[in-house]
Amino acid sequence: MRIALALLVALLLAATAPALAQDPGTLDKAALPPLPHPDSPSTPAKELFARKTEPVPLAARSIGFYSSGCLAGAVALPINGPTWQVMRLSRNRNWGHPKLIAFLERLAENSKMVGWNGLLVGDMSQPRGGPMLTGHASHQVGLDADIWLTPMPNRKLSAEEREFTSATMVVREDRLDVDPKVWTHQHTELIRTAAEDPDVERIFVNAAIKKALCREAGPDRAWLAKVRPWWGHDYHFHVRMFCPPDSPQCKPQPEPPPGEGCGHDLDFWFSPGVLHPTPPTEPTKPRPALTMANLPAACRQVLMAP
Ligand SMILES: [Zn+2]
Repeated sequence: MRIALALLVALLLAATAPALAQDPGTLDKAALPPLPHPDSPSTPAKELFARKTEPVPLAARSIGFYSSGCLAGAVALPINGPTWQVMRLSRNRNWGHPKLIAFLERLAENSKMVGWNGLLVGDMSQPRGGPMLTGHASHQVGLDADIWLTPMPNRKLSAEEREFTSATMVVREDRLDVDPKVWTHQHTELIRTAAEDPDVERIFVNAAIKKALCREAGPDRAWLAKVRPWWGHDYHFHVRMFCPPDSPQCKPQPEPPPGEGCGHDLDFWFSPGVLHPTPPTEPTKPRPALTMANLPAACRQVLMAP
């Protein structure tokens, strides 16, 4: 099981080029050059979806699975709200299913009540969802969002700051726990608030963060089951929504394993092989990029729509 998980993760990592929450963006984004053979069946779907800069003006629908799908009727999260700001605007990834937009606005407002000053929102989805050129295997159906582990400052960030400011690394250097110099109890309360939202299916955080949440949760612990450890996720946390009722072709994720996932359930993540993986002796072969044939047929209409 663990070997299978490690293999899966190696595949997932190989399939995504780096562009992490904390990676800088750009202030002079050039349009992507046209593809020489856009209709070729071997053209990676990420090349096609990355060239769509507008959503499809149809009813909202999440199609397929979080890591192989697309999105019709996407809505943009406004880049400035009373209690949130969108980061890395050059990526044009502040799109989502209306359920995700509503959740983010709700969480931004509720975050104030637990002492968090508002949200800095990282990547959501592209205007038509689909695979991305950089950064994520999921985020394809408009139901995933990355939220920075840095509270919003009390002023409107400039375009430069939104591209080049880094999020806060909250995990200690030895990777065994959070860094007490930057971690606050408000981090726990913010993640708890997100996890307790009934529309949230899963939250991904670094194992060191999960360990801290287990320690700080107190007697009300049911929400911990939704918060699962994953590689990275030490500058941001990742929220995934349930498939909405208006999206019959949205494929749900299996339920998390039973239990709150604390204590020895985290041992695997703190094992030497995971904390300090030995680099592969041979270069790992990258997994072939998804093509349109790997996505639900309806995604072709989403892609082709004017
Ligand atoms: Zn994410």
